[in-house]
Amino acid sequence: MPYKEVSLATKMDVVKDCFSGEKVTHIAQKYNVSRESVYTWKDAALEAMENALQSYQTNQANLLKNKLKNMEEKYQKLSDDYKRLTQKTQLSVSSTQSNEIRPTRCPDCSGNHIIKNGSYETQKGINQRFRCRDCNKRIFIVKKNSN
Ligand SMILES: [Zn+2]
Repeated sequence: MPYKEVSLATKMDVVKDCFSGEKVTHIAQKYNVSRESVYTWKDAALEAMENALQSYQTNQANLLKNKLKNMEEKYQKLSDDYKRLTQKTQLSVSSTQSNEIRPTRCPDCSGNHIIKNGSYETQKGINQRFRCRDCNKRIFIVKKNSN
């Protein structure tokens, strides 16, 4: 049998006929090629299909993994934002109860023996005043969010 160049289009048709269930003998006659060629192209096509589907599957899995990672990062960020907001809220709540705020260190001498030293009235209510037992200086609480 003389060597005959078979076009890619013809090989595709041969493979399609194989997959549609036509008999190999019939296909070989129809396209005037050997039965061995039909089997070879069919096997090659099957292998290529398997590779294509395999990498498609891997790509899909990677896409899902990336999606999941993004969602986890978004969740983490939201969770952090929520924590920060909660802390802010708690701070602002406690700042309205100025009597409950007690300085831990003296701003002058850094001593930590702070005692209560009466209270004084402001437009916003009654504030507790403190005194440092180390240097005997008065300590006032100044609200940050006075406005
Ligand atoms: Zn002091």
